Amino acid sequence: SSTEVHEKQNKKESFNAEAASLLVKNLTATFASGKTRSYEWRASQLKALTKLLSDAHEQQIVDALYSDLSKPPLETVAYEIAMLKNSCKGALKELKRWMTSEKVKTSISTFPSTAEIVSEPLGVVLIISAWNYPFLLSLEPIIGAIAAGNAVVLKPSEVAPATSSLLAKLLGEYLDNSCIRVVEGAVDETSALLQQKWDKIFYTGNGRVARIVMAAAAKHLTPVVLELGGKSPAVVDSNIDLKVATRRIIAGKWCCNNGQACISPDYIITTKDYAPKLVDALKTELEKFYGKNPLESKDLSRIVNSNHFGRLTKLLDDEKLSGKIVFGGEKDESKLMISPTILLDVPRNSLMMREEIFGPLLPIITVDKLEESFDVINSGTKPLAAYLFTTNNKLKEQFVMNISAGGLVINDTALHLAINTLPFGGVGESGIGAYHGKFSFDAFSHKKAVLYRSFFGDAAIRYPPYTNTKMRL
Ligand code: NAD
Repeated sequence: SSTEVHEKQNKKESFNAEAASLLVKNLTATFASGKTRSYEWRASQLKALTKLLSDAHEQQIVDALYSDLSKPPLETVAYEIAMLKNSCKGALKELKRWMTSEKVKTSISTFPSTAEIVSEPLGVVLIISAWNYPFLLSLEPIIGAIAAGNAVVLKPSEVAPATSSLLAKLLGEYLDNSCIRVVEGAVDETSALLQQKWDKIFYTGNGRVARIVMAAAAKHLTPVVLELGGKSPAVVDSNIDLKVATRRIIAGKWCCNNGQACISPDYIITTKDYAPKLVDALKTELEKFYGKNPLESKDLSRIVNSNHFGRLTKLLDDEKLSGKIVFGGEKDESKLMISPTILLDVPRNSLMMREEIFGPLLPIITVDKLEESFDVINSGTKPLAAYLFTTNNKLKEQFVMNISAGGLVINDTALHLAINTLPFGGVGESGIGAYHGKFSFDAFSHKKAVLYRSFFGDAAIRYPPYTNTKMRL
């Protein structure tokens, strides 16, 4: 109702630096009470999260993401809800083991002694998430923060407002609000939060805002995890199963939120000779998936808002790209839809090749020899992901050795995200730190070094007077 909206706006307006400071103070006191440290508390919150993700709320979550992005229900269920359920399950299964301190070897110089690495929670942490996978990117880090025994504040993205408000509602209902809180809002609210002293800030989003987050964190020497993006390339060789490769490229691009995913292939590099074949195969499969009129397809997300629609239109309208569209290019501003679009031989100095695309446009650049693709990739900033389709083992080896990226996948796209034994994160401009599975637990823990000595065997050598004999020993 309008009163509710009004109340909510008032509530949002009142969230200033003072309110943020009070929030952190309260959470710090709860953390200091030791409540979040016990195995029982951590497990109870992970179980509560599992319940929150249960079938009872599936429709609400699907509806929220549909309202924010017209995200196809299957993508929500498979790539947000199921992934999170799996992560909760894994964390619950492994939690005791993760929490157990690790005995390590000591050296002769400390003989006799024992040593261990104790994982301790950091304290009160801030998680700022993005709009494109708004459920996953909010709750996946929370799983790590809870497993590691921290108090948490989540600031979901205002760009996905239905999901933001559903997260606030469900986390309020299911989790322990003396330790886990949601603050909704945009730049003002986030700035108020960023002024506070946190024990860790975990940010997902773009590099421009990441610099603001890191500068704010630096004031308090707060460590950060930055999960960012970049131009993730897909290199396509000519010796492949073209149909399978094509379907997998489409799966990572348009079946992931219509290209609005941080690990979607941003552009393709292939040889001049092979490019026409690849384009044909992409066209054929795209038509099978989305029909003759993709703007009407129920299986494609829309562009999130008119700002991003305008940004993508600008990339497409670059005069350097005239005549380069070989498939798609249709737009419907009233529905914020852009159809899957392929461009061939896109100049490297076009806007499209200089900025992260983050949408349904897929430029292909061509080279004489596939090896040249390494220079193309390495001349840009380090991407979040890089993909290679080939059956040539030597090329695979060279790719793994020479391409620096957050993660690599050979002969598929995006799937490394689903493997919880692999760290997920960037390198260079694509991010700092990593998470998923045990890496999430580690991201929110301090590895405390503990050395145990007894009073036996006290060596005189370390004490003055420092004689020549002692020096030579
Ligand atoms: P966004 O607009 O939702 O912004 C992210 C967060 O930053 C939001 O919570 C927002 O409120 C906050 N924010 C915005 N301006 C701010 C400011 N001036 N001060 C403080 N906080 C501010 O999301 P986005 O940045 O458009 O997300 C897209 C980018 O994120 C792409 O670059 C993409 O590659 C990257 N991304 C990375 C991952 C990953 O896991 N590595 C996942 C998703 C998206």
